[in-house]
Amino acid sequence: MESIISTPKDEPFPYKAYFLEKKEDGKKFVGLFAHEMVPVELIRASGVHVVPLVFVGPEEYSSTGGSFITHSACSFARNIVGGFIHGDISFYKYIESIIRTNYCNGDFIGMEYLCREYNMPCIDLSIPMKTQGYSLAFFHEQLKRFKQKLEDVLAAPIDEAEIRRQISIHNNLRQVLRRLLDLGIRGAELLHRYQEAAVLEPAEMIARLDCLYFQEAAQHSPPSSSSSSNPRIMLSGDPIFINDFFGDWLEEFGATIVYYDTWIGGRMAEFSIDEVDPDVYHALAKGYLMEQGLERSVPAAMEKRIKRVSSKVGTQKIDGIINHTLKFCDFQAIGRTEFKDRLGQHVPVLDIERDYAQSNLGNIKTRVEAFIELVKGGA
Ligand code: SF4
Repeated sequence: MESIISTPKDEPFPYKAYFLEKKEDGKKFVGLFAHEMVPVELIRASGVHVVPLVFVGPEEYSSTGGSFITHSACSFARNIVGGFIHGDISFYKYIESIIRTNYCNGDFIGMEYLCREYNMPCIDLSIPMKTQGYSLAFFHEQLKRFKQKLEDVLAAPIDEAEIRRQISIHNNLRQVLRRLLDLGIRGAELLHRYQEAAVLEPAEMIARLDCLYFQEAAQHSPPSSSSSSNPRIMLSGDPIFINDFFGDWLEEFGATIVYYDTWIGGRMAEFSIDEVDPDVYHALAKGYLMEQGLERSVPAAMEKRIKRVSSKVGTQKIDGIINHTLKFCDFQAIGRTEFKDRLGQHVPVLDIERDYAQSNLGNIKTRVEAFIELVKGGA
C-alpha cells in the first residue's frame, strides 16, 4: 500500500490497484453513491471498505444506464448505472451492499436499480430536507437506525469508541485538506487531490498529502501549478468526478481553477464534527445537516449558496466563476439563472450545462476561452 499511497502527484492515482489490495486484505466492500451528507465515519467504524461511486465513463455509459433507469435521471446517475452494466470498472464487482438515500432523484432511482438487479442489500438512510430543530432531531434518530441497519446487514458490531476515532481522523483529514489552498495548489492537481480524498481512507490520504507536500523532502519542490498567473477562477455547482475529461479541458482552455466550490472540492474540508459532544449521533447529525448540507435544505437553499459563494469570492480573490451543471441534475438546474444573475452583478459568471459527451468540446472551448478573455480584461 505504501507505494500506491506515494504515487507521484503528476501520475494518475492507481485506484484499481488500491481496491485490489483492499480486497486482498479481506475487507467487505460497501458502495456509496450519495453526495456529501452520509457520515462515512459511521460506515467506516464497522470495519468495511467504502467504495464511493464516483468513477464515471464515456457518454456510452449514460446511454446504457438510461435504457434501464428513467432518462429523466441525471447524466451522472445514468453513467454510474451504465458503468455497472458495462463492467469495465472492475472493482465495482466486489461491492456486496449499497447505501441508498433520498439525497436526490439520481441516488434513489439509481441505487434502487443496482440493488435489485445485482441482488445486493440496500442500506437506507433518510436525510431531511429542512434544517429546523425537528429536522435535526429526525436526522439524529435516522443515524441511530442507520447504524443498526449497518450492523444487521454487515454482521459487524459498531463500537462507539471506534465512531469517535473515525470522527477524529476525518476531522484531521479536513484540516490537512484546507492547507492545500494555502500552498497554492490549483487546477487539475488540486482536483485530483480532492478526488483521491473522496476515495481513500482518511489516514491513507493524510499520509499521501504528507508525502506529496508536507514532508521536508516535498517542501523543496514547490507545487507544480502554484506559479500560474492565469485569472483566479472558481468552479461551482456539480463536481467533476473521477475519469471525467472536463477538468483537463478547462486547464487546456486556460481556465485554471483555484477554488472548487463543490462537494468533491473545497466543501469537503469546510466543516468538522464536534469531537466533545457526548452524543456522537447528535454530533454527526449536526455537522452533516447544519453545516455540510445547508445548500440542499429548503427553503432558501439558493440564499445560502449565494451567501457562501460571495464570501469565497472575497477570501479566495476570485476573478470569475464557472457554474457547472450536469444535465438533469435538478438541484443545480433549478437555480442556474438566479445564480448567474445575482452573482454576475459582482463577478463574471459562465454557466455551463453538460453531460459526458465529447462532441461538445468545440462549443465549450469557444465559450470558456471567450470567458477567460472577458475575465482577463476586467481583472
Ligand atoms: S448530479 Fe445532481 S441529480 Fe445527479 S446524483 Fe448528483 S446531485 Fe443528484
